[in-house]
Amino acid sequence: MNKAFEGKKVLITGGSKGIGKGIAQAFYSEGADVGILARSEEGLKAAKEEIGNIETFVCDVTVDGERQNAFQWFIDTFGGIDVLVNNAGGSSGGKIADTSMEEFTQAMETNYFQAVHFSKMAYEQMKERGGAVINITSIFGKEAGGKATYNNAKAALISFTKAAGNEWIKDGVRVNSIAPGSILHPTGNWQKRIEENPEAMERFVEENIPAGRFGNVEEVADAALFLASQEARWLVGTTLTADGGQSRMNI
Ligand code: NDP
Repeated sequence: MNKAFEGKKVLITGGSKGIGKGIAQAFYSEGADVGILARSEEGLKAAKEEIGNIETFVCDVTVDGERQNAFQWFIDTFGGIDVLVNNAGGSSGGKIADTSMEEFTQAMETNYFQAVHFSKMAYEQMKERGGAVINITSIFGKEAGGKATYNNAKAALISFTKAAGNEWIKDGVRVNSIAPGSILHPTGNWQKRIEENPEAMERFVEENIPAGRFGNVEEVADAALFLASQEARWLVGTTLTADGGQSRMNI
């Protein structure tokens, strides 16, 4: 039986750990040709050992030249691109008054500008034959909750998703995003916080996540498979919330 993404070429930024690795695993299991990027060569090697026959490339996505090299590597290796998952990102900073302008800039570099650049490079390839771009944002890009640096950058990426989605759909390029709630995985922030203070984290889950537990990477990965699939052909510029009910928006 054919797998859903047999022969599709999928690039995932930040694919060596956590959510990105889960997404890489999911596309690989569905038959895709997968390439992942991250800064640590060791991390990439470990992910490849775990997942299987995927390709890896060392890249700091905040550096313009490295992005261009990495994207060219992907095209040279696979001969094109069908799906781009802009997953790399992360939280930094603290209270606004204590956060330097450099940290605000860095948060935009880490979570926003690089995803815009990868999307633009992917569009140039995809506009001839169609494709899907999936941005991993956050519920904190939609509502208050995280640090201002992070919220700002994820909100910008949600907004870019809508703009690029509308602009590129006529060329068959669908741009959408997934806004996860709190996702637990071994190398992530929530795991660290559970180890530091398990009781506080139990309370956090009880008070904040209606489903009564953290999400896992497979649940975000399933949403990514859906957004990349034909079944999501009418989803354009939208942000899919995947959070076990955690976010507080009515609409
Ligand atoms: P992790 O920190 O566990 O993993 C991040 C991945 O991105 C790693 O592979 C890391 O590898 C890579 N990465 C980080 N910075 C860079 C960089 N500058 N250049 C290249 N690669 C980089 O994060 P999560 O899996 O938890 O999160 C993934 C995405 O999901 C992020 O965008 C995050 O904001 C978002 N998200 C996460 C939530 C959660 O609860 N975990 C909730 C909502 C959104 P390396 O360090 O080797 O570069």
